[in-house]
Amino acid sequence: NRTLTNATKKLPRSAESVFTYFFSTIQSRYPESHPAYIDAETGLTITRGQARDLALQLGYGIREVFPKRGGERLKRGDTVMIYSPNSITWPVILFGSVAAGLKVTLANSAYTARELEHQWKDSGAKVVYVHPSLVPTVLETFKLIGFSPAEAKRRIIIANWGFADKSVPQGGYTTVDDLLGKGRLSVEEKFSGEQAKNETCYLCYSSGTTGKPKGVETTHSNITSLVNICDTLYPPTDYRKDVMLGVLPFYHIYGAVKLLHFPYLRGTPVVIMSKFDPTVFCRSIERYKVTSALIVPPICLALVHHPATTKFNIKTLRFLFSGAAPLSGSLVDAVRQKLASVGANVYVTQGYGLTETSPTTHLLPLEHSLRKVGSIGQLLPNLEARLVNEDDTDAKEGKPGELWVRGPTIMKGYLNNRAATENAITPDGWFKTGDIAVRDKEGFYNIVDRRKELIKYKGFQVPPAELEGVLLQHPDIVDAAVIGIESEKDATELPRAYIVHAKGVKGKEAQEFTQQVKKWMEQRVAKHKFLRGGVIVVDAIPKSAAGKILRRELRERAKMEILTE
Ligand code: AMP
Repeated sequence: NRTLTNATKKLPRSAESVFTYFFSTIQSRYPESHPAYIDAETGLTITRGQARDLALQLGYGIREVFPKRGGERLKRGDTVMIYSPNSITWPVILFGSVAAGLKVTLANSAYTARELEHQWKDSGAKVVYVHPSLVPTVLETFKLIGFSPAEAKRRIIIANWGFADKSVPQGGYTTVDDLLGKGRLSVEEKFSGEQAKNETCYLCYSSGTTGKPKGVETTHSNITSLVNICDTLYPPTDYRKDVMLGVLPFYHIYGAVKLLHFPYLRGTPVVIMSKFDPTVFCRSIERYKVTSALIVPPICLALVHHPATTKFNIKTLRFLFSGAAPLSGSLVDAVRQKLASVGANVYVTQGYGLTETSPTTHLLPLEHSLRKVGSIGQLLPNLEARLVNEDDTDAKEGKPGELWVRGPTIMKGYLNNRAATENAITPDGWFKTGDIAVRDKEGFYNIVDRRKELIKYKGFQVPPAELEGVLLQHPDIVDAAVIGIESEKDATELPRAYIVHAKGVKGKEAQEFTQQVKKWMEQRVAKHKFLRGGVIVVDAIPKSAAGKILRRELRERAKMEILTE
């Protein structure tokens, strides 16, 4: 067993709940009046003191005031959902719920009603905080579930605190504003050390190595361990000068932990953007003197090509941390050059991890970011890693193997899914990432392939099994397989479908059919799952004797097809 560890000294495992840790234990490290979260559009600022106070007010509001207004009564351990793009309301509802001892399931704000239905039912959520613009989708979801309008009203809270536009959809819904200012939890829900270690705090959804999205049970101590581990490795910050740009979605664990939690530990204010837009991105850097940003590779690409990069003064920018998808060395070179041309000398580095690992397991330290460009860096301290062959033996030194990791940041398991959990985590605690990596002599890792089915579009998960399931609902499709193809132009993978027509169409008819299927899918799935990589009609899907789709064969086939397209 060639277990590889990072030799840095072991950190004690925090035995506190997320709320106690962030808003009691470390709260006094920085002044109460110091900004914690800033709305990029309006400049509305939540100070650290207000962040704690608003959370305690909302905690009280959701437990005590909401039921009095006809809302669902919630108790410790119940689950609430957040369904909203990034906004200044997010830290209030996230930490308010956590203060009240609730679990929070984070839903992708691009989800369609059907996708949301799956997460609602699977997570056992009882109430949803929803952005005003998404109320119609929630109502559609509730209709699919069979809730009456009165039932829906009991389960919806409009999340528009801090919005300039206070208009609320008709229907007499409770808003976050209605729940604030009525009282305060005197103390947050108490967690013993064991409870902090074992109780789930957040439920993000990930397909893991195979199948449909599953609820990832991230515990309180997963989060506190992760931020403490990162604290030892990330470059030191000066809380009086540093400002981080928060553009990645908070509903993904990467955004939730690295933008709402980690900067709070560091005292770094986060400027919240509702979505990525190159002009708002660069304007916000100028306006708030932003020093760092968390990004995904397609944002690098936009910075290289978009005119906004040269239009605003972005010289304060020092660090870009990329994650969630592979970042190529050529893209790093291109973005550094472009930013240098406008006077911004920027370190570009990347981290690696999964929803299941809370999320980061590897980070490329800044001092090595040029020398080891393209690498995901070294294993974080307090974690262990192995590279494993298909037969579960350890790969030879320098040879590729599936990356397995173990440590305090590994999820508890998949919610109500023992089979998937046992598939993912060995009895002695190794989590199988499904990614193939190599490790060089200095301990730097590179991801070279993926053993699992997962496709990533601009950092978003696209589970092939889910798309295949939707395709098979089409009356003329009898078999389907979805794979990812690389697009260097867009710095991302694109989902591509192979389908078998019930009557077997050819030539022009097949081409028309593929166009129809593309549009048909666009009415059923979130934008990031659109079949941007193409739809191809085939006679049969290649399968193994056991009936498993031979995805590697399809990927090879796609490479040839793309050469001639
Ligand atoms: P998610 O759970 O959505 O964060 O997806 C995790 C998956 O994203 C990993 O298993 C990898 O396949 C991929 N991933 C994340 N970060 C990187 C990276 N820096 N380089 C390559 N792939 C990555």
